[in-house]
Amino acid sequence: MPEVDTRTLAARRLAPLALMLAVGSMLLLLQDGAAGLNTPWESRFGPILSTLYGLASILLWWRPHRIDVIVGGTLGCTGFYFLGCLYEGARLDSAQGLYAVGANAQFMPLLYVAAFIALRRSALWVSAAMYAALLGLYGWLYRDVVQAGGTYQQLSGHVWTVLLLVNPVCILALQYITALRGRLQRAEREAHEGKERFLAMLSHEIRSPLQSMLGSIDLLAMRLHDDAGQRAVDRLRRAATQLEAHLRDITEYTRLESPDWQLHEEDTDVAQLVQDVCDQMAPLAEHKRLALYCRLPDATTEAPPLGMQRLDPVRVRQILLNLLSNAIKYTPDGEITVRATLHPALPRPALLQLEVEDTGIGIDPSQRHRIFEPHVRLEDPRSDRVGGSGLGLAVVQRLVERLGGHIDVDSQPAQGTRFTVTLPLSPPAASQRQFPLSSPAPHRP
Ligand code: ADP
Repeated sequence: MPEVDTRTLAARRLAPLALMLAVGSMLLLLQDGAAGLNTPWESRFGPILSTLYGLASILLWWRPHRIDVIVGGTLGCTGFYFLGCLYEGARLDSAQGLYAVGANAQFMPLLYVAAFIALRRSALWVSAAMYAALLGLYGWLYRDVVQAGGTYQQLSGHVWTVLLLVNPVCILALQYITALRGRLQRAEREAHEGKERFLAMLSHEIRSPLQSMLGSIDLLAMRLHDDAGQRAVDRLRRAATQLEAHLRDITEYTRLESPDWQLHEEDTDVAQLVQDVCDQMAPLAEHKRLALYCRLPDATTEAPPLGMQRLDPVRVRQILLNLLSNAIKYTPDGEITVRATLHPALPRPALLQLEVEDTGIGIDPSQRHRIFEPHVRLEDPRSDRVGGSGLGLAVVQRLVERLGGHIDVDSQPAQGTRFTVTLPLSPPAASQRQFPLSSPAPHRP
């Protein structure tokens, strides 16, 4: 997961905690105030601190990327408040003083936990600094106050000793957990890289012979002139093409889980890309005697031309290929229509809408939520006859999410299915050229 996402996630997790802390500390202050247990320092600065927690909670939600500043500032103020409470509590020879030391000291570990959640690398140093301040204060007070005697001061000396033991244990435990987490993440990354290397090697080892198989099939098709031979060659070609598609899905699905997954955006002629996908799949549609229409905006339509857009052509192509190959697979007869439309928006980003509609077997409404799960193939007597890994739509959904878009499905059993992908477009890097398109000819078998 990219760095920015991890920080946002941490901030969104801390925000409700900060809110709980705001409410909790305020209630505690009111309760202790009613019982006459608050020291002057607590009565003065406690409400300010509670308000600060509430503010921090709002800021964490609103500006999650500023988590370092927000948590750092809140921790600093809390540390200052706690040390003030402890100092004042230790100096007061009364139940109020002892209560102030005990009640506030037990919350110190919360500060360390917050530091380890939000600050990571510097967390150990920040916690150690807070502990050192505590230690210094203790040493100073021990000589001046605790040694001077008094029941409450002796009891508060006991609380201080417990506190001094608990704090380092807490910091060390947090550091141990953080180190363990880092080691686990590294191991996970290494395992993932190993899996990627293996898949890349496997994909290369299979893809090369597959390419030469496809080349040989074409050669064979030119030499065979009888119907039976042609049918056998067609079956061979379909099987090889399907194998290639499975290989592509498995490789992409594994890659999508990698934390190093990256977009490769470039200025792309969208109409050309969509037309290429249609051209590539046309023989398969033709083989099933399905009409395949590729509807793109042109001079005769009112829709804006697709033009050059900045997007990741390989990923958009894969989304379309998977949807179109499903449409062909799950349509026994009828037609398939691919549409691409641009929805300009000011200010940008504009939206690119891609639709793949078929008149096939459709999807049962009760099963619709499952189709994007990996390795799910709906139990339809007709779909058993076509091959598939159950990864096609899982790859499509994850790719669409990574591209910042969303996918909708509209389907009626036995009538057909329409998948609609909406993608936000970044502004083109090059000049915003718009290519008027010639009227695209539909593929008719
Ligand atoms: P598969 O490899 O089985 O095609 P997918 O992930 O691409 O895997 O699709 C999951 C399931 O969703 C398919 O098994 C099929 O039942 C259903 N499905 C996908 N696309 C269509 C479609 N256009 N029409 C009907 N059913 C579909």
